[in-house]
Amino acid sequence: MTDAPQPSNTHPTTKCGVVYLVGAGPGDPGLLTLRGRECLQMADLVLYDGLANPQLLEHTRATTERTARVGGPGSRHLDQAEINQRLIAAAKEGKTVVRLKGGDPFIFGRGSEEAVALAQAGVPFEVVPGITAATGAAVYSGISLTHRDHASAVALITGHEDPTKPESALPYRQLSHFPGTLVFYMGLHRIEQITRSLVEAGRPPDQPAAVVCQATTPRQQVVVGTLTTIAKLAQAAHLKPPSLLIVGECVGLRQQASWAERRPLQGLRIGITRPAGQAEESIRLARQLGAEPILMPTIAVAPLTDHSAVDATIGELSTYDWAIFTSVNGVDGFFERLHASGLDGRALGKCRLAAIGTTTAERLAHWHMKVDLIPDEFRAEALAAALQPHVAGKKVLWAKATRGRDILPQQLCAAGAEVTELPVYQNIDVTEFTPQIQELLRNGELDWICVSSPSGAKSLNHLIPDAARPLIGQSIRIAAISPLTSAAATEVGLAVTAIAREATWDSLFGVIAEYR
Ligand code: SAH
Repeated sequence: MTDAPQPSNTHPTTKCGVVYLVGAGPGDPGLLTLRGRECLQMADLVLYDGLANPQLLEHTRATTERTARVGGPGSRHLDQAEINQRLIAAAKEGKTVVRLKGGDPFIFGRGSEEAVALAQAGVPFEVVPGITAATGAAVYSGISLTHRDHASAVALITGHEDPTKPESALPYRQLSHFPGTLVFYMGLHRIEQITRSLVEAGRPPDQPAAVVCQATTPRQQVVVGTLTTIAKLAQAAHLKPPSLLIVGECVGLRQQASWAERRPLQGLRIGITRPAGQAEESIRLARQLGAEPILMPTIAVAPLTDHSAVDATIGELSTYDWAIFTSVNGVDGFFERLHASGLDGRALGKCRLAAIGTTTAERLAHWHMKVDLIPDEFRAEALAAALQPHVAGKKVLWAKATRGRDILPQQLCAAGAEVTELPVYQNIDVTEFTPQIQELLRNGELDWICVSSPSGAKSLNHLIPDAARPLIGQSIRIAAISPLTSAAATEVGLAVTAIAREATWDSLFGVIAEYR
């Protein structure tokens, strides 16, 4: 008797994994689908192509590898056969694999070739659609690809042709009579030939045309002209790939519908120096306003190594009249320990709560605590002034970092309070920026760096590479969240260009937009 052949989708010892072919969307990391994010969360290995935005990798704990050579560490070119082999081999080792592809996997993405290879190898797979570049570029540049009066169809066309063929394979005659919008992918270097051929085949020479490059990213650029002028205009604009050519009457309607380029921070690359894990709010807001936020922590937040002081204070919480919180970390450090001790908010008894600002108050709300006092201005002096009438003869607890300013206890003691300073977390200076951040700084490829605390500003000063120093205050500007943070930056020699009016990210981004 001969051995029965193994079904190709099983490995003698390991259960076969699965491959998800996931559309990454056109660039804006917010345009990934929920299913795409789930797949990234489940993955053991992610192979991503040159067009997929690497920021999407924040959704995964997997080993990641870029399959296109786009420079930087960890990227190398794999040809299609090698990619197929890698996907199959990893799945057969039992891994959950995500193949992350720019746009939609089945639109000029060779996703179907990968799917066929997987099917032939007996590897289970799922395909997750993505927003393709045509719709991303059109929507983010205010061009409606269809329109009741102007375009009842859309054609997606590849402008990339086999250079070995003498004749163009594109059916320009049919395309020129197509009753709607034409979108050419991969055509930037052939735009002159494409537009000329369309006109020669009968498309009106004055028909509106647009080139959209780096669509949906903060670096999106749109050049608008006609079939006759667009090639020269695009060349003069020195556009960077990837880009699309859109041809049709609806391009002419773009002005009224355009929105992305009008966002206040559109196109700015902004460094956020907050500790990792504490920058969500600023990053979300920066993206919403059109900027590209770059997380570059100057300070790391760490739990205490010795909890004895906190535990002792927790034991006598009900003797305090006020508890003061001046940061999100202070709130978390305090309540995490309180809960770890088997207690909850009731342990605070009649103790009243003060927060330095709305963000800290919101964090208290997360722990189901209501705040009794927030100053009008979000700074320590204002908090002290607001508390002073209430604290004479009272016991006040301040949950703080291992280091910080003295102003609050000084002023409260002066008002007759008995103040206990309780460090509930530690701040540690970061010793080195990542190589990617150092490179951005050296090349002047950041427009702004936002600093949000005096100690963060001081730490930033040690982290800036020498080659980038002359750029500070010039091409790389510094924005400070408060006058105090600004003073700390200036004191160490960092020129500050903008200071928020109120100590909030909204206000900080607002002054950056005004500076523009
Ligand atoms: N699967 C992808 C297309 C891959 S082909 C999708 O569905 O979008 C690569 C081409 O897509 C590029 O040459 C360019 O023409 C276009 N493209 C991809 N991302 C783009 C972007 N952000 N802006 C403009 N064009 C883009």
